[in-house]
Amino acid sequence: MASSASGPNKSLAEQWREVIHARRVVVKIGSNLLTGGGEGLRPEWIAARAREIARLMEQGKRVVVVTSGAVAAGRPLLKLNRPLASLQEKQAAAAAGQGVLMRHYEEAFESLGIHVAQALLTRDDVENRQRYLNARDTLKTLLELGLVPIVNENDTVMTDQLKFGDNDTLSANVADLVDADLLILLSDIDGLYDSNPRINPEAQFIPLVERVTPEIEAMAGGAGSLVGKGGMATKIKAARMAARSGCRMLLTNGFREDPISEVFGAQPVGTLFLGLDNPLPARKRWIVNARVGRGEILLDAGASQALLQGRSLLAKGITTVLGEFARGAVVHCQAPDGQQLAKGIVNYNSSDLACIAGRHSRQFEAILGYLGTEEVIHRDNLVLTSAATQGE
Ligand code: GLU
Repeated sequence: MASSASGPNKSLAEQWREVIHARRVVVKIGSNLLTGGGEGLRPEWIAARAREIARLMEQGKRVVVVTSGAVAAGRPLLKLNRPLASLQEKQAAAAAGQGVLMRHYEEAFESLGIHVAQALLTRDDVENRQRYLNARDTLKTLLELGLVPIVNENDTVMTDQLKFGDNDTLSANVADLVDADLLILLSDIDGLYDSNPRINPEAQFIPLVERVTPEIEAMAGGAGSLVGKGGMATKIKAARMAARSGCRMLLTNGFREDPISEVFGAQPVGTLFLGLDNPLPARKRWIVNARVGRGEILLDAGASQALLQGRSLLAKGITTVLGEFARGAVVHCQAPDGQQLAKGIVNYNSSDLACIAGRHSRQFEAILGYLGTEEVIHRDNLVLTSAATQGE
């Protein structure tokens, strides 16, 4: 439910006091701000944001920047004198522009005595458990050492299907990776309105969103959606993901003067989206966001009940194994009524699991020729669908 300052829980003013105290902050900067609508980037604008971030760091805050602008910076270098036509041309522009983009950030921060570090991520990097853990550890190490990670999507190598696609989504993933307590989306709009203010002069501004509901999504979607690189829909999606990580998200207009410092001032600005009070632990959040393998495990009523009570999945309660998956894949578990019950990391591949389905773990060694784990999916690696959608 969207709410105003008189919401059922804490008031906007109270929520704001907590925003100000955020320690780990992700700032997402969109292409429109970097170019100011012109050709190429605006180094002086980047330098001003670096000064704002340096001030936050002096207060002990740690900041990650998620920045667009590689394509925008690279486009003029291709000298095509026409819009980019293909994915390859966009990727070529990103390859040419990423270095330029980094050089501006480097110069801006170096002049303040702060080092930056480039991290280019792909969706695969957060969906593959090992790479997710590596990315998380590297980013956290950089923050602990006082550097500013500058993150962008690795556009040059990505195909359309495997892309985050927009840096709003990327920034929510980064906020999740580094356990940020605040994600600031610097955009070219003031925040969320209940309808498009560029079409409807009566549109009401919404300063606080306690929970991303279908009603909120409806405000962002459809033909009347607001402008911005990813559009309002991706911003709402980012808010939902940030909320699951217990992270607040602030959507504010980056064209304002000192838009980052303003967030930490006394006066609320933009639209604040709250985080969940009891977010899932990081491991379970990764499972929620992970892509599901080509397979499914069908359960009997007893196993379904056990899962709902927070217990692990044992082979005894499995009736059918569908499709193919490897050990360590993320798979769905289905209740006898066809409901999607849970999602988890499976300890057996599909062919071994088909052999032990319905059996007691005492029999595993005789059937498989090795002694596997008793749990097919351990409860620490299992997320109930109801828990994954909490707060939505
Ligand atoms: N990664 C793209 C770039 O650097 C921008 C994607 C976005 O702005 O959402 O040009």
